[in-house]
Amino acid sequence: MRKPRLMTPGPAMVPEDVLLELARPVIHHRSAEAKDVIVEVAAGLKEVFRTENDVMILTASGTGAMEAAAVNTVPPGGKAMVLNAGHFAARWSSICKAFGINVVSVDFEWGQPVDPDRVAAALKEHPDTVAVFGTLSETSTGTGHPVEAIGKVVAGTDAIFVVDGISGIGAMECRTDDWGIDVLCAGSQKALMLPPGLAFVSVSPKAWKKIDAFDSHSYYFSLKSARSKMKEFDTPYTPAHTLILALRTALRRIKDEGLENVWKRHQRMSEACQAGIQALGLELFSSRPAEGLTAFRVPNGLKDAQIRNKLTEQFGITTVGGQAKLKGHIVRIGHMGYTDELDVISTLAALEMTLAELGLDVEPGRAVTAAQQVLMGQLAGARA
Ligand SMILES: *Cc1c(COP(=O)(O)O)cnc(C)c1O
Repeated sequence: MRKPRLMTPGPAMVPEDVLLELARPVIHHRSAEAKDVIVEVAAGLKEVFRTENDVMILTASGTGAMEAAAVNTVPPGGKAMVLNAGHFAARWSSICKAFGINVVSVDFEWGQPVDPDRVAAALKEHPDTVAVFGTLSETSTGTGHPVEAIGKVVAGTDAIFVVDGISGIGAMECRTDDWGIDVLCAGSQKALMLPPGLAFVSVSPKAWKKIDAFDSHSYYFSLKSARSKMKEFDTPYTPAHTLILALRTALRRIKDEGLENVWKRHQRMSEACQAGIQALGLELFSSRPAEGLTAFRVPNGLKDAQIRNKLTEQFGITTVGGQAKLKGHIVRIGHMGYTDELDVISTLAALEMTLAELGLDVEPGRAVTAAQQVLMGQLAGARA
């Protein structure tokens, strides 16, 4: 059996010390020991989110945080603006519609970043917007959106800015308070280096005003309940506290490396990956690549499954294809969390051999060389 390398944009690889926490005997979730863990992770999450706001811990996948963010902030019949530039942005619309929230979808081409000027114009046209829903890292296209600039636009209005940071947090720069993000959602299984099962939501004072203004239709995902329990470092219902214990170790790892160094490592990995892909004559899908993953177009004459299956069977490397309308058109390589520059180089080396064996005119070593040159500072990254 091959050594497995999960080069996917979630779930992503989990470090050994985090995995070992999961093997410990289960403790009681209302014990003093469990509470101490929440005290520490609450502080750690605030640091990773770069916020002074409350960060709530939910037992759910990332989508649970999105649902909590939508249903608690916008009443049924209220207006939500969705900045729609991909499959995950479109999920905001689906969630809102499921709860009777009116959606104004501001659509952008997939693979292109959201244009803050168009957001400003749309907000002028819809001054009754309660919340603007955006995405930090659109995982379906591999695009990083200009959240800081969008945050400035939304901050000047009555609306709150809700951001899906699920594949971005811990991978790319995100400063919740400085950038005017009112609600930020994250999930455990992406750059936060845990298995799936936990979701996190931060809430600003401006967002709490919206939340306190009505009784939401949510019970399990009530943010008011989560807030009152979080005051005592507790949760309303039994949390996946084995995962919370593991989260403590993952957050300590981020603290030890330094959050800004973690962001820089992801920047290096993405620039190296982009350079390698381009050195093979392949086309990046996004015009503004996110830092936790790289998406490229499937070369003419090949099928994405041929490439991905060969990478898995021959080299133990898992990648993912496209979602929704991008199915069959792109391949996505995740490089987030417990991933380093050499994982990226290994993946590029395997990709070279895979494409050459599938009959493409690829010179082995090209991608690896380009990636090494980026890492050694001899070649500027694509986004630099
Ligand atoms: C993974 C992901 C989600 C969905 O998270 P689940 O944990 O599968 O519910 C939502 N948004 C983005 C940007 C993601 O990358």
